[in-house]
Amino acid sequence: MRMTFFRQLPLLVIFLFIPPVFGEDERMNKPVAIVIHGGAGTIQRAKLDGETEQAYRDKLKESIEAGHQVLMSGGSSREAVVAAIRVMEDSPLFNAGHGAVLNHEGDAELDASIMVGSDLSAGAVAGIRRIKNPIELADRVMTASRHVMLIGQGAEEFAREQGFTPVDNSYFKTKRRADQLKRLKLKDQVSLSEADDKFGTVGAVALDQMGVIAAGTSTGGMTNKRYGRVGDSPIIGAGTYADAGCGISATGHGEYFIRAAVAHDICARVRYQNASLRNAANEVVNQKLVEMGADGGVIGVDDEGNISMPFNSSGMYRASVDREGRLFIGIFGDEGE
Ligand code: ASP
Repeated sequence: MRMTFFRQLPLLVIFLFIPPVFGEDERMNKPVAIVIHGGAGTIQRAKLDGETEQAYRDKLKESIEAGHQVLMSGGSSREAVVAAIRVMEDSPLFNAGHGAVLNHEGDAELDASIMVGSDLSAGAVAGIRRIKNPIELADRVMTASRHVMLIGQGAEEFAREQGFTPVDNSYFKTKRRADQLKRLKLKDQVSLSEADDKFGTVGAVALDQMGVIAAGTSTGGMTNKRYGRVGDSPIIGAGTYADAGCGISATGHGEYFIRAAVAHDICARVRYQNASLRNAANEVVNQKLVEMGADGGVIGVDDEGNISMPFNSSGMYRASVDREGRLFIGIFGDEGE
């Protein structure tokens, strides 16, 4: 029997006015939270002039707001992590994307990774030279390939197939990083970013309205690095990890962070020891890493939206919006709790 449109209309009207009781309310009440870092290291008030400090604070705010906005509009933690990291990759202030540190040959070689805690899906890229936003390529490896980690030319071939437009390596280069490389080459040293006084890698961890945690990290690695050196940032379990109850992004001396399996160790403590995120992150950063002689820090979120951001260096560029919607921005060790 054919019903006319007008006979269906009342049904349609009733349907449209049924209140959204199908879990929508419940979902909306779930807290969201997000935390970002822009690298840890010896960041001293005396060495950071007011204008530069403000520039960092403004960019951290822009990044955390970009990620938080995604979460508030019902987007996924994965999308929030990519949105927040993209802002920092595009800024010359951080050691990721434009403004990344330079290797021994004077080129930028970038690493990034992302992981989603609900299904343990992950994507990573290392040693890439021509992709503007490495976090986007890591995300694409996760969502559009059967692999977890792609490196160098192969990763860039995959990027081209996926429709990424390559940029010239000069896009990433800034005078500041070229000067840093020159200084370090004179001393014949390898350094994490700012001549040993800060790191600058970026990362984000978020919890979305569906209760899913995602974590991501992006970096240029170490100034004056050679031989295709890769640090912890693109290594799932070292620089980035997320499971159902915990997500971590790390920044610090990658060689140590890989051996300490930093991000996974923290989440494993939460999972198997029933430790709070705060205690687990503190133990790894302020005991385990300190005993190994490793500088750096982590950011993390648990499934209740608790945020943690410990570091054992004098500062870490960081920002968060907690489950109550409170914004925090910090650089030095004496800010926040
Ligand atoms: N962890 C990074 C690396 O070793 C550096 C950093 O955090 O700044 O490549």
